[in-house]
Amino acid sequence: MSHDWYSDFVNSGFGRAVAGNVGLPQVPKLRRWQPGQPLLSGAALLGTATADGRVAKVVRAVLADAHVEVHDDPAAPIGGGSSTSKVAAAVLDATGLSSPRDLAAVQQFLTPVMRRVGPSGRILVIGDVPAQAERPAVRAARRSLEGLVRSAAKEARYGATVNLVHVADGAENDLESTLRFFLSSRSAFVDGQRLDVGTVPGYAGSSAGTDWDHPVTGKVAVVTGAARGIGRTVAQTLARDGATVVAVDVPSAGDALAHTANDVGGTALQLDITGEGAGEAILEHCRRHGGIDIVVHNAGITRDKLLANQDTDRWNSVIDVNLNSQLAINDVLLASSDDDGFHRGGRIVTVSSMAGIAGNRGQTAYGASKAGVIGLVEATAPLLGDKDATINAVAPGFIETAMTAAMPVGTREAGRRLSSLTQGGLPVDVAETIAWFAQGASYAINGQVLRVDGQNYLGA
Ligand code: NAD
Repeated sequence: MSHDWYSDFVNSGFGRAVAGNVGLPQVPKLRRWQPGQPLLSGAALLGTATADGRVAKVVRAVLADAHVEVHDDPAAPIGGGSSTSKVAAAVLDATGLSSPRDLAAVQQFLTPVMRRVGPSGRILVIGDVPAQAERPAVRAARRSLEGLVRSAAKEARYGATVNLVHVADGAENDLESTLRFFLSSRSAFVDGQRLDVGTVPGYAGSSAGTDWDHPVTGKVAVVTGAARGIGRTVAQTLARDGATVVAVDVPSAGDALAHTANDVGGTALQLDITGEGAGEAILEHCRRHGGIDIVVHNAGITRDKLLANQDTDRWNSVIDVNLNSQLAINDVLLASSDDDGFHRGGRIVTVSSMAGIAGNRGQTAYGASKAGVIGLVEATAPLLGDKDATINAVAPGFIETAMTAAMPVGTREAGRRLSSLTQGGLPVDVAETIAWFAQGASYAINGQVLRVDGQNYLGA
């Protein structure tokens, strides 16, 4: 991992003054989740944009359960402080919009909020699903929230994030894990994004009884590419959250793989995931743990070449590792028995990339494979209803790993600084998002692709 000297400089007393004088970007230190940390480190504001809002009640109950002090007026003083004293988060129930004129109520809530949310604060807007509206004016108003949120995220400062959750009709009681993720510091590097809850029909599950400090307790989780990098951190994060981890990687990475497995108290499986029978080998190994609850398709490779210089062997190796292996393993999982195979209520989480959304020079094969992952997620999600299972993807942006340390310095600095949070993410930011998708309590989140990129400006 390459050290971020610029961040050290602007966070020193002298550097902060210089940066302030000449207008260089500040690099806020992001608050990240630690076990035992409360959901929020201060009070929250909760607003409702319309009389028809249908989620404020649920949000209030979740905040009360997490012992968060809630205030309703975004412009009123709090507990002896002034009307500008800081809050840790603000949530706006923006469901029930009937025309673009209703957006004024959203603006009226968010304008004072933008000044009041403190460092690493959270602003969360919850709206209806645009595609579930028939009237153009209603759909337009619902869709407006996305442009508003993405723009507000570019204005928020000091590590504060702004995100949008769409909640499908009837899914208002299925929001708890989503609220807890977006409000907590687990979502430190997710900014300016949108997630849909309850949009794939046929979901089932419950968050009742979840231990929110150890939300995957008793689950068996397979993580591919776990010898190093993001996969290793995913294994650590799932183990921290209570899972038994099966760490998978190629035989040539055997020592590092054993290190991960020992570190997380799990088992190691040396396996090339592109080999014939890889899915069966994973199933066979996991029978000793009683089956599989969570699969994280993290293993991935880059073989960057300009398309003009590409050759088919390189091309195929990228498509095979990053995409075909996942398709083949998923087929085996879905055909397996609920008893000692892929369990009912299982979770598949896969790793896409910003390159699959925005494209990247020199990465046609990689970009194709990572866009293919999104297609895989979209097509598989509706097939999982029979198993009460879900599939979702994270799309990391610039993450500080060996891969990004190897970039030329100019590309690396642009990747870090040209984002709303003005820094690269850490592997743990991707891992926290994966671990949240993997929770049993995330049963209503299916077919989603969430960027973990600090709202990177490079590309889409
Ligand atoms: P990494 O190269 O550090 O680790 C990848 C791991 O996958 C390695 O341990 C490797 O041995 C393993 N692997 C490769 N081929 C395999 C195979 N055939 N069978 C089993 N294991 C295999 O990469 P990383 O940076 O940790 O990336 C992890 C995932 O995140 C990848 O899918 C990558 O495309 C994606 N991603 C990374 C970034 C980033 O900034 N680092 C950004 C976007 C997406």
